[in-house]
Amino acid sequence: QVRVRFAPSPTGPLHIGGVRTALFNYLFAKKNNGVFFLRIEDTDQNRYVPGAEEYIMEALEWLGIAPDETIGKNEKFGPYRQSERKDLYQQYADELINSGNAYYAFDTAEALDAHRKLEEEQGKTFIYNHHNREKLDTSLVISASATAKRIADGEHYVIRFKTPVNETLHLHDIIRGDVKFETNLLDDKVLFKSDGMPTYHLANIVDDHLMETSHVIRGEEWLPSMPLHVLLYRAFGWEAPEFAHLPLIMKPVGNGKLSKRDGDKMGFPVFPLDWKTPEGVSSGYREKGFFPEAVVNFLALLGWNDGTEKELFTLEELVAAFDLKRVHKAGAKFDPEKNKWFNHQYLVKQENISLAKSFAPIVESKDVNRYYSLVELTKIVSLIKERAHFVSEFWELSNFFFVSPTSYDEKARKNWKEETPTLMEELISVIEEITDFTSMNIETIVKDWMTKNEIGMGKVMQPFRLSLVGALKGPHLFDIVEVIGKDETIKRIQKAIA
Ligand code: GLU
Repeated sequence: QVRVRFAPSPTGPLHIGGVRTALFNYLFAKKNNGVFFLRIEDTDQNRYVPGAEEYIMEALEWLGIAPDETIGKNEKFGPYRQSERKDLYQQYADELINSGNAYYAFDTAEALDAHRKLEEEQGKTFIYNHHNREKLDTSLVISASATAKRIADGEHYVIRFKTPVNETLHLHDIIRGDVKFETNLLDDKVLFKSDGMPTYHLANIVDDHLMETSHVIRGEEWLPSMPLHVLLYRAFGWEAPEFAHLPLIMKPVGNGKLSKRDGDKMGFPVFPLDWKTPEGVSSGYREKGFFPEAVVNFLALLGWNDGTEKELFTLEELVAAFDLKRVHKAGAKFDPEKNKWFNHQYLVKQENISLAKSFAPIVESKDVNRYYSLVELTKIVSLIKERAHFVSEFWELSNFFFVSPTSYDEKARKNWKEETPTLMEELISVIEEITDFTSMNIETIVKDWMTKNEIGMGKVMQPFRLSLVGALKGPHLFDIVEVIGKDETIKRIQKAIA
């Protein structure tokens, strides 16, 4: 069975790159009728940030990609929080010591520094592995009884992995294909510390094994850890999962990884939800007014496509089309403008009434002199949504429906002719007579009047629009007239020519 996991460390708000990793795991699981689970990797207590765990869960919920198994949900392989599995890891560290795949190291930070300096003076780069592990303070050079005594005396130690020497590892990554690693270039990584806590590497491997992870799908920054992880599986005698390392998400301009600073500079969020700290708020896609479906859609296309030009996918369509083999190796450029385009696509697809409901509180917060029912508000939304990326832009696009103009675009006002006020007076009398006050009917009657009296279009339409809107912008004029209604239309024309 396919079992994949998202395994974030709760060190802060989930970055959009992490969300993409979660999404690809979700898609792969659903595509293969598998299980997507969430494990919280919180063994590094120094970097633990309160609230981060809840934030991660809330973000996945909001996006509609909640895990099948996690803390408090189908805890078949629980606990899903590594800090609650603490007691489990020691025995696995011991197992590696006993099988000769790991050793104790007592070096202090100062001793290691001194050693590093010494090697550098000799023109070498210091790697903690077979080059020098026998020269350092490890259980490989002191007797078993001395080691036991030092541990019993409470001396600080770490357990390090004993990386094999002179081996070329030929590994396979679903996205990257065959990858080669030289073991001589690998550090003897720390697996366990005397404070009783495992490091990421040990806890990750033990848990992926115990939780029956079939595929490890994670960011490219973890590719350098792949050889160690494979060696750990081998040392335990366990079958390793398959690996897929996702391409980095790159800055919109220039080179390098997308960072929070890029977002701050260019005014787009890099987090799914707002993240509040005493220092301030880092804004999120949800609070910026993005639809979760739009975020899922644009994230899916960061490093993947279905082989066609198709860009708009529902979550179900993504599940059906997703294939890890089609994930690109090269970094994926983050394009905030394109993301807005995606949101626009989802916005226009929404029911007008539900958009009107989201818009209503914004309208209520404004000082208006024309009030509308929900039905009328729905109509207004239908007239302007084509030009919006977000509901938050609706007010800017429609304020003239609610507030009569207090000023008029100067350039347009200068174009008024001497005859304009008279024409507008006549227009008022025409409008007064209309009983069926619908856009089409008003348009027919006003245009008939112009044709009959041989009045040029521009002579009426421009001042008419200026009177109602205050500028030469907005949707179809007769739609505006219908919505604001006869009285308001007449009042506005009168005001404009007064
Ligand atoms: N805890 C690691 C992280 O924060 C997990 C990496 C992995 O998926 O193996 O990304």
